[in-house]
Amino acid sequence: MTNYLRRSNYLHGLQCHRRLWYGQNHPGRATPTSRSQRRLLDQSREVRRRARCRFPEGMLIDTTDPREAAEQTQEAINSDISCIFNASFIFNDTWWVRCDILQRDSNSWKIIEVEASADVKKEHLADLAFQKYVLTEQGVTISRTKVKHINRECVYPDLCDLFTIEDVTDKVDRLMDDVPNNIETFEAILAEDVEPEVLIGEQCEKPHRCPFKDYCWRDVPECCSIFTIPRLSWDKKNKLIRKDNLSIRDLPSDFPLNPSERDYVNMIRNNQPEIDNEAIRHLLSKLEYPIHFFDFETLNPAIPRFEGLSAYQQFPFQYSCHILQSDGSLTHHEYLHTYATDPRLPLVESLLSHISDVGSVVVYNARFECGILKDLAEFFPEHSEALQSIISRLWDQLVIFRNHYRHPEFYGSNSLKDVLPVLVPSLSYEDLDIQEGNDAQAVWDEMINTANEEARNNMINSLRAYCEMDTLATVEIHNALHREIDEP
Ligand code: SF4
Repeated sequence: MTNYLRRSNYLHGLQCHRRLWYGQNHPGRATPTSRSQRRLLDQSREVRRRARCRFPEGMLIDTTDPREAAEQTQEAINSDISCIFNASFIFNDTWWVRCDILQRDSNSWKIIEVEASADVKKEHLADLAFQKYVLTEQGVTISRTKVKHINRECVYPDLCDLFTIEDVTDKVDRLMDDVPNNIETFEAILAEDVEPEVLIGEQCEKPHRCPFKDYCWRDVPECCSIFTIPRLSWDKKNKLIRKDNLSIRDLPSDFPLNPSERDYVNMIRNNQPEIDNEAIRHLLSKLEYPIHFFDFETLNPAIPRFEGLSAYQQFPFQYSCHILQSDGSLTHHEYLHTYATDPRLPLVESLLSHISDVGSVVVYNARFECGILKDLAEFFPEHSEALQSIISRLWDQLVIFRNHYRHPEFYGSNSLKDVLPVLVPSLSYEDLDIQEGNDAQAVWDEMINTANEEARNNMINSLRAYCEMDTLATVEIHNALHREIDEP
């Protein structure tokens, strides 16, 4: 079967010519799809399936053979069928274009693109322009182009308004002139044996992280790259990329930097951390025992699952809490919801049984935990007072690393995962099965739905180990900070 190009190839070409070429010639250079990316792909499939359910008259073109699919589509178009899912068209003998939903509109057709996002993005318009161009070239008249996407206002259990449809015909039409040139360019690139010369840049993360980024960025120095300079504009980065000045150490002395960029560069060059001991001491002095080191794991599915939750609203399914007493003793408490039922009430009850009504609650990025706690207080008014008390006692460890503690080996970041190895080298996520929050979401979703008991138990253990590590990390960072400021 011919290896046809798809709509995704067109979008990859728009993102970066090298990405398009690698996709066809060196797919093995891509970083394997992560668990969290697979979860999002599954979610997109489910969203598409539900969107189709809104068109009971629709006919699905269900073959994976492009020629057969195109023939079946033509038959459906020539019949009186009013709606086709996966309507397929072969163009230039090169492209196999499938439309999510093609709906008859008297003598013409509407293309409806289904997206799991909560709004219309630029790439959706480019995608629709490509589809419209191909279908028009095939003699199919297109009256309107629309995006059917998730409606954030939809609240469970009433999923009638899960989708909203935006008519984007005018915006799509403005892109139509570019399509034939793009197609010609992309086909020419793919006909070449040598990869197109493209410098790394903003496109590597826009509109999505490119799967070839690890490969293309392999020569970017980890410790002192220009990309670690906080908030450096892409305009400045591009100037440095063009001169192959990827290391702060190679930065020309006359390169224009603002004062905070210059400060950061000097810190890297001097290889000396900048620590404001007084400010840190002042912040730590506000902590009251027992000190609770706390962290939630949450999920925000596109399709809400539990009472009162809206589309993409976060809900917690797990927490970990280490409690440090004034005598130095440390205990650990946790809750992990292990079934597909609503985790919120049992989690709140567990949390309130462990977090006492006195003492500080240390988190890493208080804005996030505060948002979750506020939502819980709203959902469970009977627990609102106790949850508001926790909110009032939140103490954000991140503030220290945002404002008062900079280290060359944080690589310009202040995330827990970058701070921990510097302050507490003995503690590491490296041996854990789950190493970041997005993966924890994917594992939880898989765990509550699997029938395989052994896999389920393994996933439960992995989730517990990961969340416990998050709060243990903040405990050990707290201890390390104390050692540092208490040193004579
Ligand atoms: S990482 Fe960047 S330069 Fe490399 S293929 Fe992807 S978008 Fe292109």
